Amino acid sequence: MGKGKTAYIGRSYLGRTVVSGVSFDSGDLVAEIKGEVVFDPDYGSDYCMDLGVGCVLEPDPPFRYLNHSCEPNCELLICDDEDQAVPLRLCLFATQKIQPGDELTIDYAWAADSAIPCQCGSRACRGWIVAATELSSFERSKSVA
Ligand SMILES: [Zn+2]
Repeated sequence: MGKGKTAYIGRSYLGRTVVSGVSFDSGDLVAEIKGEVVFDPDYGSDYCMDLGVGCVLEPDPPFRYLNHSCEPNCELLICDDEDQAVPLRLCLFATQKIQPGDELTIDYAWAADSAIPCQCGSRACRGWIVAATELSSFERSKSVA
C-alpha cells in the first residue's frame, strides 16, 4: 500500500496519520508542504500550520494529517525562497533515519494555553502537547488551578 509514494495517509489509534513510503536519512528533505496560504492573523483550523508573519498554511493531504510526537522523526522548517510567488515555503525534514512504513511525526510545540493531553506513547512523552520550553510554566499553572 502506498508503494513508491513519498508518503501516504495511514491509520493510527488516533485516526489518520502520515506514513512514509520510502526511506530517509536524518537531515533529508521529506517534502515541501503544499497548500493554501491564508493571510489572516485570526484564522485558525485543526490542521493549519503557522508560517509566522501573520499567515498560516492550510496543508493539502497527506501532510495535513501529520501527528504530534514528543519524540518526532521530522521537523517543519520555513524555507525562504525569494524567487517564488509565495516566498515562504514550509518544508518537512527528517530528524532521524526513517524506514518505509514508519509514521511521520512532528513536535507541535504548542503554546501552553493550547495544550491538550498527549497520547503519543513515546518514552520521552511530556504528557501534554505543549512546547518543551513552555512545559515548566505550564505545569506550574496546572498545579495552582
Ligand atoms: Zn507525548
